[in-house]
Amino acid sequence: MTQLLLENHEYLYAAIASHNVRSQARAIAIAETLNIPRRRFEMQVLYGMGDKLAKLLVDRGYRVRVYCPYGDLLPGMAYLIRRLLENTANSSFIRQSSEEMPIDQLLAAPVANGNDQLVYTKVFPNVADTDYANTELRKQAETAIKSVRGILGQTYLPLINGEYQNTEATVNSLNPSNPTEVVGKIGLLSESQAKQALQAAKDASLGWRKTPVRQRAGVLRKAAELMEQRRHELSAWMVFEVGKPVRECDAEVSEAIDFCRYYADEMERLEQGQNYDIAGENNRYSYQPRGISLIISPWNFPLAIPVGMTVASLVAGNCTLLKPAEFSSVIAAKITEILVDAGIPKGVFQYVPCKGSTVAAYMVKHPDVHMITFTGSQEVGCRIYADAAILQPGQKHLKRVIAEMGGKNGIIVDESADLDQAVAGVVYSAFGYSGQKCSACSRVIVVESVYDVFLERLVEATRSLNVGIAENPGTQVGPVIDASAQSRIREYIEKGRAEAKIALEMPAPETGYFVGPVIVTEVSPTATLAQEEIFGPVLSVIRAKNFNEAIAIANGTNFALTGGLYSRTPSHIDRAKADFEVGNLYINRGITGAVVSRQPFGGFKLSGVGSKAGGPDYLLQFLEPRTITENIQRQGFAPIEGVDD
Ligand code: NAD
Repeated sequence: MTQLLLENHEYLYAAIASHNVRSQARAIAIAETLNIPRRRFEMQVLYGMGDKLAKLLVDRGYRVRVYCPYGDLLPGMAYLIRRLLENTANSSFIRQSSEEMPIDQLLAAPVANGNDQLVYTKVFPNVADTDYANTELRKQAETAIKSVRGILGQTYLPLINGEYQNTEATVNSLNPSNPTEVVGKIGLLSESQAKQALQAAKDASLGWRKTPVRQRAGVLRKAAELMEQRRHELSAWMVFEVGKPVRECDAEVSEAIDFCRYYADEMERLEQGQNYDIAGENNRYSYQPRGISLIISPWNFPLAIPVGMTVASLVAGNCTLLKPAEFSSVIAAKITEILVDAGIPKGVFQYVPCKGSTVAAYMVKHPDVHMITFTGSQEVGCRIYADAAILQPGQKHLKRVIAEMGGKNGIIVDESADLDQAVAGVVYSAFGYSGQKCSACSRVIVVESVYDVFLERLVEATRSLNVGIAENPGTQVGPVIDASAQSRIREYIEKGRAEAKIALEMPAPETGYFVGPVIVTEVSPTATLAQEEIFGPVLSVIRAKNFNEAIAIANGTNFALTGGLYSRTPSHIDRAKADFEVGNLYINRGITGAVVSRQPFGGFKLSGVGSKAGGPDYLLQFLEPRTITENIQRQGFAPIEGVDD
């Protein structure tokens, strides 16, 4: 920005306001390089805070303005204190520069590069999202939307044993922003085709189990590379098939890429096993694949979730069948193309789109299936858990079920919260992807003393959201997934009108499955609205007498997925860390958008069973541990019995 400002000094008068001598020095260096007259820009420092710097700059002949905020006392003090905290933080350059620190250390790059072994092994290098401020990338995204629109309506068939197979039944996948647009026709697997697919998986099992981990991990890394190449196109498919705004689709592509690379690394780590040897005895602890693995995925993260579950299962050595949600089967077909191009052998991975309640349920119960990895609603998750527990004739193992289910996530706003930060965080967490994220905030629990002022700002901030079709880059809230979701959400809004008070009901486009953001206030903690997962843009505001009550309300549901706290009171933050019952707790930030490895994701209570996705325990669920103990004491030179001569 400094460069851009100074390059345009003929049109713009630049004021470089910073107490960071490094930033000021950079501006001076740019100005000198560009030969900019000194009267075309100025330096600014805050009165009383950068006096030495100001004097030095003046001595060197630069224009300096010393400024001072004025206006209301409280916001003014708050402003000054924020500056003070920033400038005096131990990690800040300004603070460090006033210490006797060697210049090299002071000027070292703040972010370690990939060659720095120490940092590299500790921090997983997540791939970056697209920077849409870059014109070139923005154009590529636009072009991808146009070209994907040109190829909507094609047919996608199941992939069984390496072949795409025709089906008797098909179903259309529609664009939720404009349901007259058919995104693709999906061939639905029949029960007898499901049987064939399971047989093919069985046949491929031994070969895949024996394939070296390095090679299996190589397929994942190749898939990640292909996704990177097809990033804009994959985003475009999501925009059309599930109505997710472009920027959020892009973040999802990043997550899918990260899952591939992270699980590849993780399997290479686990493959090492452990040795617990003592003198005379070797003890080897290692892992083996479980066998045939069925993945059942939801539509709301149509790329990242199925990719994560599938590649974790594959890299662990399991032959894997992916059954995507009916609404997002075209994207799952794209995952299939990518895995095939990345070199997955036939039978090892199979794409089995089908009806959940019939053919998927049949596969869940099939005796050859060893494990089921499900993400979706509580209702379906519980049914799968129960069905998988029944031992079928001929079945010689117990099935492992991983079920990641819903949430009723709350954010607590206490009396010490920075309300600017809290409002922005709650709005994004509640209405991003129309509230259709399992991690979305659907309850905000506000301590009484700030309730009214928070609510007023929350309503105004929400009113500023753009509601519209997903492909429009300005859209912040798109449609919901289908007509039945739309009418279900509308029923909840009516319940809200009867049980509580509607503070805001935003209008939404008529065509497409839209529901504008809704804020309901004075919701009782036990009301339906405060207890059931709505999965839409409906936010309940709940009043709490104090922080203790807020924690009790937050914990008062059947779920424990994500939760958040906005507070500047250390004792409240500590209490939330100890007592807020959620799998992922976020403090002073939004509660969605978990990043692979940094924020492994998943809940407990009725939010699911299983270890966190994108975390160090995840792959263990796809493996069976074994211990091999060998007595290696010398056995003597006695002739071996049973061997002649
Ligand atoms: P859903 O439960 O309706 O469907 C999930 C999958 O199960 C689909 O593929 C569906 O076809 C299949 N299915 C349905 N009936 C089945 C049966 N009897 N046997 C086998 N499979 C069957 O869920 P959804 O609407 O796709 O997704 C939304 C839900 O997912 C929400 O509740 C959300 O909170 C949850 N979710 C949870 C997480 C998490 O990590 N905890 C992440 C994303 C979504």
